[in-house]
Amino acid sequence: MSRFLDTRYLGIAPYTPGEQPQDRSYVKLNTNESPFPPSPAVIRALNADEVSRLNLYSDPTAGKLVEAIASRYTAALKEQGLSGIGERNVFVGNGSDEVLAFAFAAFCSRELGVASPAIGYGFYPVFAEFFSLPYEAVPMLPDLAVDPEGFKGIEATVVIANPNAQTGIYLPLSEIETIVSENKDRLVIVDEAYCDFGGESAVRLIARHDNLLVVSTMSKSRQLAGGRVGFAIGSEELIEDLNKMKFSFNPYNLDRLSILAGAAAMEDEDYFNLTRTAVMRERERLKKEFSSLGFSLTPSLANFILARHGGIGGRELYLALKARGVLVRWLGGELEDYVRISVGSEEQNEALLAAVRDVIKEKNL
Ligand SMILES: *Cc1c(COP(=O)(O)O)cnc(C)c1O
Repeated sequence: MSRFLDTRYLGIAPYTPGEQPQDRSYVKLNTNESPFPPSPAVIRALNADEVSRLNLYSDPTAGKLVEAIASRYTAALKEQGLSGIGERNVFVGNGSDEVLAFAFAAFCSRELGVASPAIGYGFYPVFAEFFSLPYEAVPMLPDLAVDPEGFKGIEATVVIANPNAQTGIYLPLSEIETIVSENKDRLVIVDEAYCDFGGESAVRLIARHDNLLVVSTMSKSRQLAGGRVGFAIGSEELIEDLNKMKFSFNPYNLDRLSILAGAAAMEDEDYFNLTRTAVMRERERLKKEFSSLGFSLTPSLANFILARHGGIGGRELYLALKARGVLVRWLGGELEDYVRISVGSEEQNEALLAAVRDVIKEKNL
């Protein structure tokens, strides 16, 4: 540390991302990326012509991307007989981490701070620290589900990942709507990073509730973790505020290639459906296989499973799998007995299962 670091940051404990080994030697199931490559439309969109224009700044409104997101969600809403959203309901950022950071900065006051489930996305308490905001961890139910009761009448901005990070447990939309209705004067941020794998999006509620902001990402269900494309959907007023933050910080927050990649990925509904269904199918298969090997699992609706085995600790299992070339995530803390495993391709999952069976056999479990 230098002697120039402002004292307000002395205590900050940065977010620890999952390992990103730069050689390709592992079956990498530790950071919930998609096991599939981006849509062919994305690969076509990023051509030499576009690269040759990198001398020019990107569109600060990311218009093409915003339009693609608004159209896609409008189509999905209309299919359910609901009215669509406009481009003024959409904000885009450099990954949803940046979108969340702007939302924390804009909507969480130092008096009220932030409240979030005790088990959830590890970045929320880090953002709270970064922006000097009080942070309240609301206890989980015994089965690790989010406790909606804990958020009733809460004096804070609420942020909930749904399905929840780490556990994959989905809180029914009716419960989300109850939290939103019972805290009319507090903003509720619903982080839907994992919603495309079986949950129902809260976007359908934004027409009825001006205190709801839905945040999402193309990192998990649209093969663009390395492209860094996140977005938020909410009332025009909320989106205007987020844009005010962005234009006061980094107007070109998305580069030219990410705007094109994000728009192409959003427009390819067939590839999106093909890949997310494959992930859901493999997730259910993994759940069955793990159960039959003696593991207990949370009822995850995300692109990962959270599993524990009475006969081996989470850290020990993580290390044993790593030694066998399979990288999973051990989260420690309240989830010390568990490992979190991203759902891979069929082939990756076979390699995972072979490694797990080998560990179980070696330890006589
Ligand atoms: C992965 C994840 C994010 C971050 O996504 P990026 O768009 O890659 O920044 C945010 N929230 C949750 C719950 C996540 O799992």
